[in-house]
Amino acid sequence: MTFNIITLGCSKNVVDSEVIAAQLQKQGHQVVYESGEKSDVVIINTCGFIGDAREESINEVLMQVDRKKRRQVKKIFVIGCLVKRFKPDLLESVPEVDGYYNFDELSEMLNNEEFQLLGTTDRILSTPRHYTYLKISEGCDHQCSYCSIPLIRGKQVSKPIPMLVEEMQKLADQGVKEVMLIAQDLTYYGVDLTGKQELAKLMEALAGVKGIEWIRLHYTYPLNFPTEILDVMNAHPQYCRYLDIPVQHISDDILKSMRRGGNSKYIHQLIETIREKVPGIALRTTLITGYPGETLEQHKELLAFIKKARFERLGAFTYSQEEHTPAYDLGDPIKKSVKTKRYNDIMKLQEEISLAFNEEKVGTTMKVIVDVEEEDFYVGRTEFDSPDVDNLVFISKDRPLTIGEFYSVAITEATPYDLFGIVKA
Ligand code: SF4
Repeated sequence: MTFNIITLGCSKNVVDSEVIAAQLQKQGHQVVYESGEKSDVVIINTCGFIGDAREESINEVLMQVDRKKRRQVKKIFVIGCLVKRFKPDLLESVPEVDGYYNFDELSEMLNNEEFQLLGTTDRILSTPRHYTYLKISEGCDHQCSYCSIPLIRGKQVSKPIPMLVEEMQKLADQGVKEVMLIAQDLTYYGVDLTGKQELAKLMEALAGVKGIEWIRLHYTYPLNFPTEILDVMNAHPQYCRYLDIPVQHISDDILKSMRRGGNSKYIHQLIETIREKVPGIALRTTLITGYPGETLEQHKELLAFIKKARFERLGAFTYSQEEHTPAYDLGDPIKKSVKTKRYNDIMKLQEEISLAFNEEKVGTTMKVIVDVEEEDFYVGRTEFDSPDVDNLVFISKDRPLTIGEFYSVAITEATPYDLFGIVKA
């Protein structure tokens, strides 16, 4: 049969869908990834993290149910985080779906008792051939007050180093050149295996995989940050001078209420240490604005922090009250309009900071990987840019370029979130 796997949510879901696709292909089935492509069965890998994401998932399910009524698809299976959180409600509200499968029920959906999401190294890539994600663990041992992930994905489970090296080599053999390491928290990798943080050891092992030119680290948790990974980053050119380290806030009282551990002094010191140890590193962070009880003073403190820390890449979210999370009982007292105002304050300040960084790149030459060809430009990214979340480089079409290849690009122009340039001969 032909299976259409539709993936919503985060990059961890992308990897899960690719693992499931490999299992189906081993059973002789065909797999397609574009929503709506002709197929016998649709599998929707949902997100259940926050309101907007849940709505998107439910809309996709209802759309596929409609296609089934019009006999465009025979069966619909729904999996992923939305099922984990709301299976009983889904069974009641959308009975037309042929099967709702929790993470520990995927073996049943796949008629393979042995199947485990973290138990295999085989994947059918759904991203452009030259880049992908390597999920080094699933679940999370932290208890951030606003977060539903531990409820959905459970405790951290790390994938052993030999399996990850094998998986990375298989990706390289498929033509992958760029890999984003992902988890709920990279820095805790291995604690469930050996009782110690083993990320540096894993990074050393992955650096030996032939064919991978860029490796980027996403989702590192500030508290107990394993600074030894910075030495590995300096020792191996494959590791991009890039680090995603969500800090969420800077006010000590808010960090305490968020159960993030650590305080503003620790975070300031950590950022200084990282920048000293890896000169020229691009730091990405994520912030939450409008958390219950956040005063105007604490918001101003956050703005002052952004100005001082000067993150090269920054994303922000307005607080979303989530059922069964430790913060749920705090309510959601900050008005939507105030949250939006504070969000806009943050992003306006970041736009200025980002423009200043980009203007420093004008007149320099940067290594760029080409992702797509558009009408007027080739579009690519530097080592400081991950797909879908960071900046882009628009390259003039002076000569034909190959998707997935690296080029030296002379930067000629900068805007807040993009660079423009020409390929150096
Ligand atoms: S580290 Fe905190 S925010 Fe991140 S997944 Fe774990 S509990 Fe959620």
